[in-house]
Amino acid sequence: MKTFLQSFYVKLSAIFLILLLIMGIAQIFITLNSSKSFYNQADQTMNWDLAKNMAVDFDEFLADSIDYAGIKHMIHYMMVINPNIEIYLLDDNGKILAFFAEPHKKLQAETVRLEPVKSFVEGSRPTPILGDDPRHSGREKVFSAAVVRINKNIDGYLYIIIGSEQFDTVAETIWGSFVTETLILGLLLSSTATAIIGLILFALLTQRLRVMTDVVRDFEKGKLNERIPVTKNDEISHLAYSFNKLADTIVANMDELKKTDQIRRELVANISHDLRNPIASIKGYLETIQLKDDTLDRAERLKYINATLQISLLLENLIEQLFELSKLDAHQSQPQLEPFSVTDLLQDVIMKFKPLAEKKNIHLETELPESLPQAYAEIGLIERALSNLIDNALQYTAENGTIKIEIKHVNQEICVRVSDTGCGIREEELPLIFDRFYRVEKSRARTTGGAGLGLAITKKILDIHKSSISVESQVNVGTTFSFILHSWQPAQT
Ligand code: ADP
Repeated sequence: MKTFLQSFYVKLSAIFLILLLIMGIAQIFITLNSSKSFYNQADQTMNWDLAKNMAVDFDEFLADSIDYAGIKHMIHYMMVINPNIEIYLLDDNGKILAFFAEPHKKLQAETVRLEPVKSFVEGSRPTPILGDDPRHSGREKVFSAAVVRINKNIDGYLYIIIGSEQFDTVAETIWGSFVTETLILGLLLSSTATAIIGLILFALLTQRLRVMTDVVRDFEKGKLNERIPVTKNDEISHLAYSFNKLADTIVANMDELKKTDQIRRELVANISHDLRNPIASIKGYLETIQLKDDTLDRAERLKYINATLQISLLLENLIEQLFELSKLDAHQSQPQLEPFSVTDLLQDVIMKFKPLAEKKNIHLETELPESLPQAYAEIGLIERALSNLIDNALQYTAENGTIKIEIKHVNQEICVRVSDTGCGIREEELPLIFDRFYRVEKSRARTTGGAGLGLAITKKILDIHKSSISVESQVNVGTTFSFILHSWQPAQT
């Protein structure tokens, strides 16, 4: 119950009902005022000439001296005929000279302000022009007035209040019932109808918010597939759409995090494996030397030391590669780009591998174009990528094989291909060879190949250069790796 009272629906409904009440009161106030003003205006306009027409009948009582009795009689007579009016005779200062009232009723004022009377006589508009009501000081009413001559030389006024006290009493009774019956009842009915319709509409509108809240709560509790239905094109639907997108992003990020975590676990497991084995071997060799110190001859001792050295070199290489990968991971998007000649770089790399190739009797071939634009990349990293590919080709190609490095200029880009006539890679292994620690030789024997990081490093290098590497291979025929380097456009510096 408490939560219901605090709900958005209840707050919205309360504001709506308060506004409805204020509007209703304002409506009554405006209707009453405007209808009164309309009524006054119509009354005064209809009776505009009333005083002028009546003034003629008073002339005979004012010609020589003021005949108060005659005037009073005439006023009484006229007020009986028309109970809607009150008649006063005023002198030129606004003092009331004659009027008719019930014996027990007294006037509250003895004078009437002449400004409105004069402006009426002069014919000023707009109506209604309001004048003093002598029976209620401070109250103003519509009137009709006309000039009368008193004693032939003084200007007096016949001042007729329209809407007499008697009329007011009757009108107030009728008005009271009109207000209660018509206005308040009508307003009550229309407000109730509006309130019911409004509350139903608010309930429908907030229903969608309730659905949204439920979905968000479920999502928070772990139901990650929950989404808000988006059926319309309004602000609430936009909010729902934004939440759905946010939820998608959160889920994608969580998947990504899980994947990264999985990779990290595998990485740690692989590193542990790759470190434990060589360290155990080194330990074994050193223990043998220690235990058999007296019996080992020089040749045997040298054999164990060489084996230890060999494993240490492999370890050193592994640690170097790991370090390099972590460096590449940390500075993913900022290679230090510079223009350089790929042909020159290739010559240097080939010089480095020539002795090993000659030793294995492998033929190292190059195919270069006559002219080639400069590449725009980090030269040290590209040298590393190229070296990894040639190193692999040398490792997996048997004696008398051939390794060919081709460079081509294709569509403003430089295409590098390293192909060999080696053992090749099975088709199902091809998508995996760029993964960290993936080696086709599952035994992880140290006799062939490295730790399975070379191609992962090469791919990473090309990734951060916004390029990619592809591989084609056929078992016992050979393997070709190709990648693209962006050429240098002078405007890039
Ligand atoms: P490694 O250090 O073991 O060579 P790489 O990441 O460089 O690791 O290569 C991953 C695997 O891909 C290797 O174990 C090897 O089986 C295969 N491979 C790479 N290059 C070649 C190639 N030129 N010919 C045949 N197999 C290759």
